[in-house]
Amino acid sequence: MYLGKMVEIGTDEEIYENATHPYTQALLSAVPVPDPAARESRDRIILTGDIPSPANPPSGCRFRTRCWKAEERCSTEVPLLAVPEVLSGAAKHESACHFAAVREPAAA
Ligand code: SF4
Repeated sequence: MYLGKMVEIGTDEEIYENATHPYTQALLSAVPVPDPAARESRDRIILTGDIPSPANPPSGCRFRTRCWKAEERCSTEVPLLAVPEVLSGAAKHESACHFAAVREPAAA
């Protein structure tokens, strides 16, 4: 959830293996990693900007003021929960993002 809105819904496996919402991806990138080698190579997403007031959320997508993928459409159209076309088979689950996509791991 972000500012009171559900952004992605799925099982543990669907979310951990195939997160498609940028906020979910940012949260997962911040999960502590006990292995020092794995910690060094992970691709963290550092969100910038302040969290908007839930009493006065941004228009369109509530996450757009902190999202690195935001485009014009994100400020005018509220993204609805839906299964992104990029997902198939067992990975299918709902995400509320106009540009939902599984994040590729960083090149080593
Ligand atoms: S709808 Fe736009 S601003 Fe919202 S999460 Fe998706 S890309 Fe980011």
